[in-house]
Amino acid sequence: MFTCRERLGSSPVEIAFTDRHGGVSEAPFDSLDLSRSRPGRDDELAENLRRLADAFDVPGLATMRQVQGIEVRVVDAPGPVADSCDALVTTARGVALCVRVGDCVPVVLADATHGVVGVAHAGRSGVAAGIVGITVDAMRRRGASDVEAYVGPYVCGGCYEVPASLRDQVADVVPAAYACTTWGTPSLDLGAAVTAQLESAGCIAHDRSRCTRESDDLFSYRRDGDRSGRFAGLVVLREGESA
Ligand SMILES: [Zn+2]
Repeated sequence: MFTCRERLGSSPVEIAFTDRHGGVSEAPFDSLDLSRSRPGRDDELAENLRRLADAFDVPGLATMRQVQGIEVRVVDAPGPVADSCDALVTTARGVALCVRVGDCVPVVLADATHGVVGVAHAGRSGVAAGIVGITVDAMRRRGASDVEAYVGPYVCGGCYEVPASLRDQVADVVPAAYACTTWGTPSLDLGAAVTAQLESAGCIAHDRSRCTRESDDLFSYRRDGDRSGRFAGLVVLREGESA
């Protein structure tokens, strides 16, 4: 169910990243596929989300309709967020935030002291448009100051081949994105880019990444194309515990 699950010190914040196990979806989406874009699979998605919420010990998950954009929504209850967006922020206890990915960078953010948490979906467009810094700003407007971030699994710079022009386009904005594949062609390291953006926004970035394409227990669009599911990054401020 989880490739990583951590309580942040003695704080009320808990984070997690899922793997592909523990759900009900059949191959090739076996089994904890959280994607919202497979027609006719609503019941399956609902059951997978229910199992995930159970395992994470929350009543439900706040989920996004992600569009590779820069909109941040502040939420105070679980469930699907009505408008499309690519980041969520909350100060509400017990409300777990969920970001879904299958190669893009899932970023989980927290200021445990001030009780503000967030998630962001950082794909190529989002990185170039600065979604991570925008999310940090939104958290600070809700009272956060010292934000720590956790960069989850994504397709690594050694695997994420792109045309040279596209590499230049992103690296012009975020130089840390510039990379080469293990076979010597142009690529992007979106995790390195996100980490650089987090650090320039004054955050401490923690690396919880693995390469999705190289990890069979994670979904990867680059590896499996339309036969790939989606996994998730999660964060919650636990109820009844002081910050
Ligand atoms: Zn890789």
